[in-house]
Amino acid sequence: MSIEILPARLANQIAAGEVVERPASVVKELVENSLDAGATRIQIDIERGGHKLIRIRDNGAGIGKDELTLALSRHATSKLKSLDDLENICSLGFRGEALASISSVSRLTLSSKPKAQEAAWQAFAEGRDMAVQVKPVAHPDGTTIEVKDLFFNTPARRKFLRTEKTEFSHIDELIKRIALSRFDVSITLTHNQKVVRQYRAKTEPTQAITRVAQVAGKAFAEQGLHIQSGESGLQLHGWVLPVGSANTTQYTYVNNRMMRDKLILHAIRQAFEEVSGAQELPGFVIYIDIDPRQVDVNVHPAKHEVRFHQGRLVHDFILQAIKQVVVPLQGEFTSQAQTIEHE
Ligand code: ADP
Ligand code: MG
Repeated sequence: MSIEILPARLANQIAAGEVVERPASVVKELVENSLDAGATRIQIDIERGGHKLIRIRDNGAGIGKDELTLALSRHATSKLKSLDDLENICSLGFRGEALASISSVSRLTLSSKPKAQEAAWQAFAEGRDMAVQVKPVAHPDGTTIEVKDLFFNTPARRKFLRTEKTEFSHIDELIKRIALSRFDVSITLTHNQKVVRQYRAKTEPTQAITRVAQVAGKAFAEQGLHIQSGESGLQLHGWVLPVGSANTTQYTYVNNRMMRDKLILHAIRQAFEEVSGAQELPGFVIYIDIDPRQVDVNVHPAKHEVRFHQGRLVHDFILQAIKQVVVPLQGEFTSQAQTIEHE
């Protein structure tokens, strides 16, 4: 057997296995790129659950003509230069793999125009070694990425695509989570040319709850308990619903990145248990802001988890912060009082 370097496309397809699981994962990577590019408006168009088309348009910084090819190649990123940067991550992306991976398993076109550049250009990658072709195109300031025919060349992956409806519901759920990560960005989601979600930018902090209610349910505006705790370096804020609430939407964020982190969920659960004895958690939307040097996001390619350098300290901080707002469960009394009020 001889040892050979894998052709670029195959290497990218293998890497795609880690981050591109389904249409929603493509949407996640592309929307995160738009956010990293400073976009304040993002439009997501989906056709047939993303099987046929995923298109993301943004009004962000754009990519210069000379960098279009580079943007599509593996390990190419503008977000990281050194190990020191890796230990102090302030962007959502940094691996430089998403565009290369996605373009290796789909038909991808990238159109972009930075403000300072007069004309817009479009790139698409094709062929075994992913030779990129660049041509002029009409496009406003910002970037549009179109991903067509996801997994057309990887039948084994395509087989795992679920129905249009299921795949779209994953995208919808993802967009909800992202919408709550950045209140200042307006986000539109369409499916088969119909507007499904429209989240307008909320620039005043007091408007945040309006979006929370729109995304996570009215209960947050009506009964949500606001928490704010800690100081610069380690802070927590957000909303918690009263114990027993039927709304169980549970979102957590670390430095504006959505998370499903075991340590965070454990601390929240413990807080509810200690105060109210509740086994069933109500809904919450919780933001943790921590010095980026105190947390490692490079744990998982899709970055669903983090590793806190001082896990115990963060855990206990979350526990105490949540305990302050959880109202003790009063069992029978609470439900009786509510019955009377309703009559
Ligand atoms: P990463 O986000 O990890 O850097 P990607 O493969 O997702 O890697 O993107 C590669 C590079 O392409 C980014 O670092 C960025 O410079 C550029 N890029 C991607 N999407 C956009 C966008 N929507 N607007 C501006 N630049 C972008
Ligand atoms: Mg990226």
